[in-house]
Amino acid sequence: MSQAVVALDVGGTGMKCALVRPDGTVHHEERHPTRAERGPVAVTENILEIAESLAGKARADGLIPVATGIAVPGVVDEVTGVAVWSSNVGFRDVPLRDLARQRLGMPAALGHDVRVGALAEARLGAGRGRRHVLFVAIGTGIAAGLVVDGSGYSGAHGAAGELGHVVVRPGGSPCGCGLRGCLEAETSAKSIGRKYAELSGEPGATAFDVATRAAAGEELARKVWQDAVEALADGLLTAQALYDVGVIVLGGGLAEAGDDLLRPVRAALAERVTFHRPPEIVRAELGDTAGCLGAALLALDTLEEASR
Ligand SMILES: [Zn+2]
Repeated sequence: MSQAVVALDVGGTGMKCALVRPDGTVHHEERHPTRAERGPVAVTENILEIAESLAGKARADGLIPVATGIAVPGVVDEVTGVAVWSSNVGFRDVPLRDLARQRLGMPAALGHDVRVGALAEARLGAGRGRRHVLFVAIGTGIAAGLVVDGSGYSGAHGAAGELGHVVVRPGGSPCGCGLRGCLEAETSAKSIGRKYAELSGEPGATAFDVATRAAAGEELARKVWQDAVEALADGLLTAQALYDVGVIVLGGGLAEAGDDLLRPVRAALAERVTFHRPPEIVRAELGDTAGCLGAALLALDTLEEASR
């Protein structure tokens, strides 16, 4: 009988869940609301219930569930399997990996949503076949994941990849972290929408509106978009100086702009490089399923390590 991994990507608003085969193909997918307002205890119980039900679905379909992989946002200690801190889900030191292992009676792994998304893009998506891959997710916030030879890098405290909080505009826009001019405060989809709304006096404008209007030649939208592109290029130059990757994969909601983002970012980075070897800059391929697939890959890696 063939095997399957139970995979969940828990976000602030929704959970993407799947049964994934060891080769990375998806057998079954489902989505559920997170409803974080119920508090971390209820959310944790809900995660475990969904995971159990997916394991049951695997058995009913003739598959053997062999492991569980869970991805969450925030600070995640992948070694101890603890969701240390997550503002949008409300986790504080939740030992999710052990809870899942006990409840489902099989090995489990816990990962950071963007870092496991990076793993998925590097192995199954836009970074396939490349040894050094940096995945940068640009949505409400900005975070990155570095993958070298197929392995993710988490850092000493489970907090690696916080590219969104590299200061690119000293004294610039206030950031949620307390600093000013962080990449996230200048270039996230949320901040692009906010800046345009402030300047145009049109509340509720989104980054998508800005991209569309900039492409159509509207002057203010073009300026806001170009400012964001320049700030992103500054952030990516810092990342390249640190990591020297072969390819940077841009994902998250902002990457939906496609070539309207990729082309000016490539040009702005090309203007900045001096001694650096410029990376290729490509769009992510897995969309919003990267985190869920990455959670599955992390669980499979855990199994492989255990069998060694
Ligand atoms: Zn910040």
